[in-house]
Amino acid sequence: MYTIIGTWKMVYPGLEEAARMLKEGVCAGDAVVHTVRRVEDDPELSSVGYGGLPDREGRVFLDAAYMDGNTLRVGAVLSAENIANPILAARLLCGRKTDCILAGHGAERFAVAQGLPMRDMRTESSMKRWRDTVAEESFAAGAYRGHDTVCVLALDGDGRMAVGTSTSGLFMKEPGRVGDTPLIGSGFYADARYGAAAATGLGEDIMRGCLSYEAVSLMRLGASPEAACREALAHLAGRLGELGESPENISMIALSPDGEFGAATTLPVFPFAVGNEKGSVLYAANIYTKPDIHVAADDEIAHID
Ligand code: ASP
Repeated sequence: MYTIIGTWKMVYPGLEEAARMLKEGVCAGDAVVHTVRRVEDDPELSSVGYGGLPDREGRVFLDAAYMDGNTLRVGAVLSAENIANPILAARLLCGRKTDCILAGHGAERFAVAQGLPMRDMRTESSMKRWRDTVAEESFAAGAYRGHDTVCVLALDGDGRMAVGTSTSGLFMKEPGRVGDTPLIGSGFYADARYGAAAATGLGEDIMRGCLSYEAVSLMRLGASPEAACREALAHLAGRLGELGESPENISMIALSPDGEFGAATTLPVFPFAVGNEKGSVLYAANIYTKPDIHVAADDEIAHID
């Protein structure tokens, strides 16, 4: 038995391949890294990796994390520039007892020392987007203009669980800004005994509820993945509501040790993909509803069953 689940339509091509790899016996960690890396490498996907969203100064800084749900070890890179595949650096850092979360130059030096590929992550199209935005608006107008994180959770036939996340964070973010994506408990969490969860959306709000740890804790107490996502989100929404706020565009995915999956979102529609013995499918979750609505496929994914 195996299951892999990931956020947004962009995850689908890599996830479909990773599901086939899991079927052939590849471990959960390799499946996660394969899927995330595929998104990082695609210059057309503008919120992760190569061609990612620039900050206010026109530079692309990336956040990524990897967690092994069987050892509870974690690795992460924060605000890293020019690392072609931040997920590879995060995975290499996972397993270290200390110094497993590196930021900025430290992360970059680590990647170079490990022989990981380095590249200028800006593309003509990411720089055009940045230049156009600078030309039409003032930097002070706020940074919340574009984002999205690839989050992938996998369970393999041997009961191993892993999670990987990768993002360029918010478009036009303040230099040095770090979101929830590389922060354990907020952007992701995995414990092979109870389950795994990950979040995407405005990181500053996700962190306020430590949403991924919250969802895994709910699974530890017996909640299904779908109920855990829904309750974690509903609780944060309730608390923020009491403060006169609402959580910004947050979506969550979760996976149980027996391969059950679930998702919840504050968006009208949140697409996510799942691969298991039944095949690979792109779903959509609506706010606090069961993820059983098939996304109307666009041309690119029209073949999806
Ligand atoms: N959570 C990411 C961040 O705040 C962005 C996203 O997932 O859309 O950096």
